[in-house]
Amino acid sequence: MSDDREKPVRVRVAPSPTGDPHLGTAYQALFNYAFARRHGGQFVLRIEDTDRQRSSRESEEEILAALRWLGLAWDEGPDQDGPHAPYRQSERLEIYREHAERLLASGAAYRDFSTREEIARERESGQDALDYVGHSRRHRDLDPEEAARRAAAGEEHVVRLRVPTDGVCTMHDVLRGAIEREWSLVDDQVLLKSDGFPTYHLANVVDDHLMEITHVIRGEEWISSLPKHLLLYEKLGWQPPLFCHLPLLRNDDANRSKLSKRRNPTSIDYYRRAGYLPEALLNFLGLMGLSRADGDEKLSLEEFVEGFDLEAISLGGPVFDQKKLRWLNARYLREDFDAAGLVRLLRSWRLDDTTLERIAPLAQPRLETLGDWGELTAHLFADLVEPPVEELTLEGCEPEQVAEVLQMVAWRVDTLRPFVADRIHGVLRELAEQLGFKLRQFTRPLYVAISGKPASTPLFDTMEILGRDLTRARLRAAVERLGGLGAKKLKKLEKRYQALGGGSGGEGSDDDGDG
Ligand code: GLU
Repeated sequence: MSDDREKPVRVRVAPSPTGDPHLGTAYQALFNYAFARRHGGQFVLRIEDTDRQRSSRESEEEILAALRWLGLAWDEGPDQDGPHAPYRQSERLEIYREHAERLLASGAAYRDFSTREEIARERESGQDALDYVGHSRRHRDLDPEEAARRAAAGEEHVVRLRVPTDGVCTMHDVLRGAIEREWSLVDDQVLLKSDGFPTYHLANVVDDHLMEITHVIRGEEWISSLPKHLLLYEKLGWQPPLFCHLPLLRNDDANRSKLSKRRNPTSIDYYRRAGYLPEALLNFLGLMGLSRADGDEKLSLEEFVEGFDLEAISLGGPVFDQKKLRWLNARYLREDFDAAGLVRLLRSWRLDDTTLERIAPLAQPRLETLGDWGELTAHLFADLVEPPVEELTLEGCEPEQVAEVLQMVAWRVDTLRPFVADRIHGVLRELAEQLGFKLRQFTRPLYVAISGKPASTPLFDTMEILGRDLTRARLRAAVERLGGLGAKKLKKLEKRYQALGGGSGGEGSDDDGDG
């Protein structure tokens, strides 16, 4: 091993703030954290917000809050100074531009002036004009000086990586050993977009190098990008870090599909609101990467760190089994708290004064005796509720249409930030109008889905108190109770929903796009 490898361990987690704080981020953060702590190294949090359309500060704050709640403290990050600040990519644009210039100057990258229309036309006309990798390489051999002139004259273009067209790229992954990939299958990746923003690939490599990251521990969906990343390291004259791609979390379904919020709540906030303990969630995520058949499965974070071995991570797709998580959570509740401790825990969870004072005015008009309190507010503290199917109705609609409406509401609330009553009211009134319902009719199945009963605390306030993720989970559960919507139906519905405008969303927001 070269000297470089003996440098102090530095790892990072690099979430894109484009949605809820995802379990996958917690999983990766945990493994990076454990590796850093095990080796006395540093753990960096970097925000990859180069997708301008989809990134938001609110989402970033939610991610930071979720990781803090889990207790995965980072040594450097956007909220604290460090030797490699700033840690938010949108504040490092100049750095990426300089590196793109370097790559252009050496011929490792080239400018591509293709217009959107040209690309669309080529796509339509079939693959003729396109390379196997799905885009034309027509500007690859343009004279660099002419290209520079056109760029200086303000002609819109992107910067692409010049990827070899033949030969094989050999990569090394800590868990998988050597992996080979033919260069002819790798596209000339866009590095700088026409708006001057870098893509994930350029920014990620540049930052990992400048931030002196020694081990890149991330999800296996990035293996296919590794040839491009390695090429960037080579062309920039840098030694690459070691790469370790963690197996993706899977749904507990027949084909072990990638963990998705269609099947499981994937937002850390959901687990927090539903009353899971951070220790239990971390413990559970840790177990998913280890093949630990022996010994107690209840492990503290310290114990997990102590025994952590990157190379022992099991490659079998870890299945997210919520029943097991509940079982583990129950053990923590039973074994780690006495009565006073449990009361303190409940208070810090959601039985705090602020929450109770928020709820009191909603319950007050409906209280006949104080004894009504428990039943009246139970749904505000529960995980899922059990709405009777015969109450999940909407005038003039078959059950399947009701399910469709609930699904669309789930999509609409899913992207709503901040998640507060008057905003919820606003977007739902709009959706009701778009679908041709009066708000009063429209909210009926929502009451039932959210509170489990036809009459309850006011809907929009209730949703706010529950939070976006618990609200969404209940809506999804109600869709399932109504018989569910298969993948095909969901696709069609998503099209219809998107045509309404007024809110992005749909299942498309499930994955993380280009990083
Ligand atoms: N921003 C990327 C993501 O959220 C980071 C991937 C990586 O760790 O390289 O998946």
